[in-house]
Amino acid sequence: MLLLNGEVPPKNNMKTTPIIGLEVHVELKTKSKMFCSCDANHFHVEPNTHTCPVCLGLPGALPVPNKKACEWCIKLGLALDCTINEETFFERKNYFYPDLAKSYQITQLQKPFAINGKLNIDGHEIRINRAHMEEDTGKSIHIDASTLLDFNRSGVPLVEIVSEPDIQSAQEAKKYLNKIQQVIRYIGISDADIEKGSMRCEPTINIKVEDETGVYYTPLAEIKNVASLTGVENAIDYEIKRQIDQYQSDKITKNSTNKTTRGWDADKNQTFLQREKEGSADYRYFPEPDIPPVIFSKDQIEEIKKTLPELPDAKIAKYKSYDLSDYDANLLAEDLSFSNAFDAIVQALIGKPEFNEFAKFTANLFSGAIRQKLNETQESFDISKLSGEYFSNLFKAVKNSEISSSVAKQVIVESYETAKDPVEIAKEKGLIQVSDTASLEQFAKEVIEANSKAVEDYRKNPLAIGFLVGQLMKVSKGSANPQLAKEILEKLLK
Ligand code: ZN
Ligand code: MN
Repeated sequence: MLLLNGEVPPKNNMKTTPIIGLEVHVELKTKSKMFCSCDANHFHVEPNTHTCPVCLGLPGALPVPNKKACEWCIKLGLALDCTINEETFFERKNYFYPDLAKSYQITQLQKPFAINGKLNIDGHEIRINRAHMEEDTGKSIHIDASTLLDFNRSGVPLVEIVSEPDIQSAQEAKKYLNKIQQVIRYIGISDADIEKGSMRCEPTINIKVEDETGVYYTPLAEIKNVASLTGVENAIDYEIKRQIDQYQSDKITKNSTNKTTRGWDADKNQTFLQREKEGSADYRYFPEPDIPPVIFSKDQIEEIKKTLPELPDAKIAKYKSYDLSDYDANLLAEDLSFSNAFDAIVQALIGKPEFNEFAKFTANLFSGAIRQKLNETQESFDISKLSGEYFSNLFKAVKNSEISSSVAKQVIVESYETAKDPVEIAKEKGLIQVSDTASLEQFAKEVIEANSKAVEDYRKNPLAIGFLVGQLMKVSKGSANPQLAKEILEKLLK
């Protein structure tokens, strides 16, 4: 950047701070479209079959707002700690594009449903400017030299969430998107799938440069066509470097401080200039004359608020109050059904002295065996059917040293599959923890015999006992009491 007198500022002692904002578009999974009764599902559907005069933009067709979509937009606003405008209205954003049949998009500019929210990312508050309601466009499909148009997506309800430029790194942007996605999935208004296109994001970036001559801002760039979370991270990282490089190589002149729109090329892993950005004046926004103002009363908004589930931040705080680690707390809160299943199970011992211990025990099974089973089986594993009683029986058995924790992992999933008490399963399989000295000595002798190399290691380094204990656990199919096993091995090796 040039100074006012045309001089180039020195490049030493330069401090750079990325200023990043995110615009996120989310397609709502309502049954019907935003302003007509067409089926809103457009994935894997014969092109142009979910259309009508309204969403094809035919003259004289009148839009009627989808009440559910408006309620969901308010619900999202509430989940993002926004203030809800009781009276709002729609506006026309005018521009020509082949996939926009009306030549305008119905959206909200002056009075969005939700304003002034926030989202907490690792203790850093990202302010949210707005969440407003609008409609999706159709899709252009380019085949060789031709372009085909599919209007199934035209008019699908879309919520746009705009953050303030409070995000400071690509990593933080990714965390913000993950969290937006998590909240949206918690409240069940969209599957928010970036790869599928039901969630789309456009980062806006520039750099604050400070050196001994003053403070400068690089020109703002908005990045389009980023189709994955990793893409967002890479695009932001690329753009941060590019803008700093450009600043340093003095290619920025006073005339190029306009906003620009840049595309993201995922193959080349770089952004490229698309066009100088339009200001909102270029869209000739004006109130939509065919739709009267939309009014939600305080009571109606209160009713919507009641439908909010416990949200991720509250879940995480709750789990930390159970003395669970950050890792466990985050993992349990990852998705709502997982978290709710955990809550239902630990419920039984709330207020009991051993509660925290039980919560830790259950969290371990959830993050290990249960999560694994869930990943393997996807939908067919109904986690809400896990029995709290079975977990508490198993917990007592482990606490009384009847069952080892490794056996607990083995039997808990089986108890779900067979609807049988896991302690019973362990008994039937002979996996009750062996604490009697005679049997353990028998196992220990077997292990010592079979592992002469490890025994030698142990004579040189007592820490090598761990391997032998591990072998003994294996031989006993996980049923040996590990502490006793260790003591007996040490005794025999003396
Ligand atoms: Zn329609
Ligand atoms: Mn938009």
